[in-house]
Amino acid sequence: MGGDWHASSSSSSPGTILPIAVVPIDFEEEVVAPIISSYNYHIRPLLDAIDRLRLLQVMKEGIQLPTIVVVGDQSSGKSSVLESLAGIHLPRGQGICTRVPLIMRLQNQDTTEPELFLEYSGKTVPVEEDHIADAISLATDEIAGSGKGISNTPLTLVVKKNGVPDLTMVDLPGITRVPVHGQPANIYEQVTEMIMEYIKPEESIILNVLSATVDFSTCESIRMSQQVDRRGQRTLAVVTKADKSPEGLLEKVSSNDVNIGLGYVCVRNRVGDESFEEARKEEEKLFETHPLLSKMDKSIVGIPVLAEMLVQVQANIISKCLPKIVRNIDEKLSANVKKLEKMPKILSTHAEAMSAFVQIIGSAKESLRKILLSGESDEYPDDKKMHGSARLVEMFDKFSNELRKCVENERTGDFLIEEINVLEEAKGIELPNFLSHSAFLRIHQGKIDRIKSMPIDCVEQTWEYIESVVIAILTRLSENYPQLKHATTRAAKSSISKMKEQSMNRVLEILQMERLTDYTCDPDYMSEWGKLLSQQQKFMGDLKFYHINSTTIEGWGTIQIGHLRENSETILQLAFDLKARMKAYWNIVLRRMVDTMALLLKFNVYNLVTKEMDEIFMELMAVDGGKSIERILEESPGVAGKRETLKSSIGLLRESKEIVAQITDRIASYGH
Ligand code: GDP
Ligand code: MG
Repeated sequence: MGGDWHASSSSSSPGTILPIAVVPIDFEEEVVAPIISSYNYHIRPLLDAIDRLRLLQVMKEGIQLPTIVVVGDQSSGKSSVLESLAGIHLPRGQGICTRVPLIMRLQNQDTTEPELFLEYSGKTVPVEEDHIADAISLATDEIAGSGKGISNTPLTLVVKKNGVPDLTMVDLPGITRVPVHGQPANIYEQVTEMIMEYIKPEESIILNVLSATVDFSTCESIRMSQQVDRRGQRTLAVVTKADKSPEGLLEKVSSNDVNIGLGYVCVRNRVGDESFEEARKEEEKLFETHPLLSKMDKSIVGIPVLAEMLVQVQANIISKCLPKIVRNIDEKLSANVKKLEKMPKILSTHAEAMSAFVQIIGSAKESLRKILLSGESDEYPDDKKMHGSARLVEMFDKFSNELRKCVENERTGDFLIEEINVLEEAKGIELPNFLSHSAFLRIHQGKIDRIKSMPIDCVEQTWEYIESVVIAILTRLSENYPQLKHATTRAAKSSISKMKEQSMNRVLEILQMERLTDYTCDPDYMSEWGKLLSQQQKFMGDLKFYHINSTTIEGWGTIQIGHLRENSETILQLAFDLKARMKAYWNIVLRRMVDTMALLLKFNVYNLVTKEMDEIFMELMAVDGGKSIERILEESPGVAGKRETLKSSIGLLRESKEIVAQITDRIASYGH
């Protein structure tokens, strides 16, 4: 077995938070000691907890986990670095090999034989070390299809092996500018988007893999990490292929032109068919003996140093992030629990459906009562449309104003002409100075006919408004039950249209009644008529003076009289009297109409809220002897789906909470 660890220099460990036990190297015996320390003993449970959270996919709940993300341009040596750290073979070579995020969990385990697993699509598959490359390819094909496309569903590779560092890293597809044959045309955008998603969170440590053979500042991975971590505070660089390009490497890393905040580690990976032991020895030798490379400080060279640094960086970021994770889990959990509580209950029995139905009806009636009858607007404080009684008053005021202002009230042009014409037509064989009742009625009926569209429109608009309010309420209350919404709104519409027809008939009746009979007991009629008639003398007098063409009559204002002179005195007197009666009576008619309409509409609304709604609901309940209620209250698939999502999210967060609770207890117990 191979791939065990050399612990090289221990002198400088950046950002050490716990002491690291360094085991001396003993080349002679060919037994290399792994990096195992009290450090691992403390950090391991934390890492395990984070990894369990990762496996639960809490990231999907928007909870970021501390993660070491490996980025690098294509062929920079990413897979080789991971290989070196894990001591296993990974698919290496041309084209895109990593097509899905590969989560590598390295776990130090005290056994002779390494244990490898792949976790994906909810299964855990043991893998043999020799077949790891094939197994990864197969799993990748299963996740991302067998083409060359990429997917962001991760694949986890667990490596339990003696001597590996306890590390969890995510390897991402390499960045390619030009799609190779078979790759989607937007492969570059897809890959960069995925990388960004992983490196953006503050919780991510960016492990930037750079090849010594290139100018770092031209690396795409540097450009990307600088976008999210400008000062490089969470970026660590691994420089590969030190063996291929040793010239100027020391200068390159010490000048730090590309702002790497956490430092550089230069390495030499396995080349060709070397075993991992051979590779480690070659690397060791390279940095000991090479004329240029040996000048580099031992604290920045070699895979073991890299491992050590990563373990520390990981410990730092985990302990830094833990409180926030705990907080996030708590917040998300309680938010989701609240959301679930607010969701409608599942109605599994007839009794439950019935009680939900009764409750919805109760709420609907209560809302209608508040909105249309008592004028309470607490349910819709900001929705003016739903301030029902105010809107109804508004509509009614408009109606009564229009009625009062309409021209029928003030026909001052062609003064008395209509009256004279009608009187002429109504003439009978009788004494000439009797005022004909039929003439009065004819004029009166003409007036009624000319204004009748106003009360009709008023009824029309009022019902249209009431219907919109009723529908809005029913829609709100039954939004989770599409069938119920359908059934109630349909029933409400048909019953409202019935009620509207009734009140329309009533209004038409009122208009007919007004047409048929001229009657009032209101003393205003007599007094108003008297007032107008008292001016008849003055009017007749003014007509005698040929130079006077207009006169003022209180109640009618200034009127033209020139056109009346050819008429006989008798007919003029009769016409004046007729017009005076007409005016006095019309006032009464208008007032009566406004009052009656007000009472009628209020009465209709009252009936709707107190009686008609009940009938609508009773009717619904009676369908199929009430059996249909369950069907009517079947919730929409959307609601059911949302509830399921919330439930599973809550389950997951509870589990996560449990996991973090266990480790925080543990931390408390060792006095961290
Ligand atoms: P990736 O595309 O970033 O995953 O890169 P790979 O790990 O597949 O490496 C690309 C090529 O570089 C492979 O042929 C590796 O063998 C080679 N390579 C990686 N690291 C080193 C190194 O340190 N020295 C040498 N000489 N070759 C390396
Ligand atoms: Mg690779």
